[in-house]
Amino acid sequence: MKLFDLTGKVAIVTGGNGGIGLGMAKGLAGAGARVVLAGRNAAKGAKAAAELGGAAVFMAADVTKKADCEKLVADTVARFGRLDILVNNAGTAIRKNPQDYTEAEWHKVMDTNMTSAFLCSQAAYPHLVASGARNEGGAKVVNIGSVMSLFGAPHAAPYAASKGAIMQFTKAIATAWAKDNIQCNAVLPGWIDTELTMSAREQVAGLNEAVLARTPAARWGVPEDLSGIAVFLASPGSDFVTGTAIPCDGGCCARA
Ligand code: NDP
Repeated sequence: MKLFDLTGKVAIVTGGNGGIGLGMAKGLAGAGARVVLAGRNAAKGAKAAAELGGAAVFMAADVTKKADCEKLVADTVARFGRLDILVNNAGTAIRKNPQDYTEAEWHKVMDTNMTSAFLCSQAAYPHLVASGARNEGGAKVVNIGSVMSLFGAPHAAPYAASKGAIMQFTKAIATAWAKDNIQCNAVLPGWIDTELTMSAREQVAGLNEAVLARTPAARWGVPEDLSGIAVFLASPGSDFVTGTAIPCDGGCCARA
């Protein structure tokens, strides 16, 4: 068994049709996995799958819906015969003062960022158990948190709540499923240049300067900065790593 080799493995990346999800999918495909890119926007999905060549397919799914999550997993296993790696990455943000959110906005952010990870993990579980039992390295769940899993920001109440929750969800899954040879970890990205943060830059004056000042690496991350950590956490190289959360942030969590 080679430490960072994913040959023969099958992965689902939710929100894999763009941004950080696509950056991680590139890493997984480069290490030999076949990757299902899941999202709602089929045009973006087709473009992303083409970028990855024969290693990837797009499957349409709204991961806030239980039936879509179950279908995504069932279709993946029907097509590729197995499921070894689940990356819960789909996410969204709505920026407001905490006192101004509607209940619907609160639920939209929580459902997209947190409930989706629960629904996909639950649907994937029997197939991850089968993968873990094959003893070709552990089966893997990788949840995408944020540096806001750790610290606050004034215009991110539901976002920060969802990202804090996903860190605790990661620990729960890790402790419950260790017996099945399933490892579960979270990645906490810093500020990465994607559609999500492009809209933030348009809405929040001075954000670009604040990010550069807050990040010791003095640059925004790019989605491909997440490729390596995705491979590590999806591969046998991390079989004794579980229940933890690893920043990938150019050092911003290290700064007081
Ligand atoms: P993008 O907006 O670029 O991508 C978000 C992805 O999520 C899209 O592919 C989108 O696809 C998918 N998505 C959103 N809602 C749903 C849904 N209901 N069902 C299925 N897919 C959905 O954002 P990022 O790449 O920046 O964000 C990816 C993850 O990384 C998120 O969890 C985000 O919170 C996290 N993150 C991002 C940071 C950053 O600086 N960019 C920092 C820290 C964390 P579609 O629209 O087709 O459904």
